[in-house]
Amino acid sequence: MAETKIPRATAKRLPIYYRYLNILLDADKKRVSSTELSEAVKVDSATIRRDFSYFGALGKRGYGYDVETLLAFFKKILNQDTLTNVALIGVGNLGHALLNFNFHKNSNVRISAAFDVNEAIANTVQSGVPVYPMTELKKQLIEQQIEIAILTVPTTVVQKITDDLVDANVKGIMNFTPLRISVPETVRVQNVDLTNELQTLIYFIEHYGQQLGDN
Ligand code: ATP
Repeated sequence: MAETKIPRATAKRLPIYYRYLNILLDADKKRVSSTELSEAVKVDSATIRRDFSYFGALGKRGYGYDVETLLAFFKKILNQDTLTNVALIGVGNLGHALLNFNFHKNSNVRISAAFDVNEAIANTVQSGVPVYPMTELKKQLIEQQIEIAILTVPTTVVQKITDDLVDANVKGIMNFTPLRISVPETVRVQNVDLTNELQTLIYFIEHYGQQLGDN
């Protein structure tokens, strides 16, 4: 499929559409209007139409969108037709929780290898995922062709581990530490700072009360 350059905000909404379309499919619904979709996913219908327009005219006026076609389309875009293996580095509290969660609902992403420096946990299996010692990082990532890594390590070691991941040809890093990591341009980073998110929420509640509209 040709690469379609889409805005980041659109890209972020694709999994939301994808999830809802799966629900419609499970309910045997054949088609959906942008208004209906809009109410379900809390994105205004003009935005939905614009988002979809990046991929060509997928809807028909007065008919709406064909659920199966749309789903097949997003499945491809979101790489849901192939299984993506992900590595997790740092099997502490958060790391354990993510291993347990393992993105299994409606998703073709899974953590297939974990790594930790702690000898008590290395060479064990946690929530069905093998935990390797850090000395095996590069070897395993290359052998298992893993290009995505999740970082749930202490901030003090995160940059060093990032450099090792880059050295092992990792293309994407999901960084759960509050530290901003440096990577070459070829590597993408998605920062997820849960404490920060919660504090932002509390700040908004305290200063502005309930949110109006969507974001
Ligand atoms: P969390 O921050 O997830 O709540 P925690 O408080 O249990 O975790 P941390 O000290 O944050 O523990 O460490 C997270 C995990 O990272 C631990 O399992 C720890 O052994 C591991 N870890 C620490 N240093 C390294 C390193 N250099 N390489 C790989 N793993 C490491």
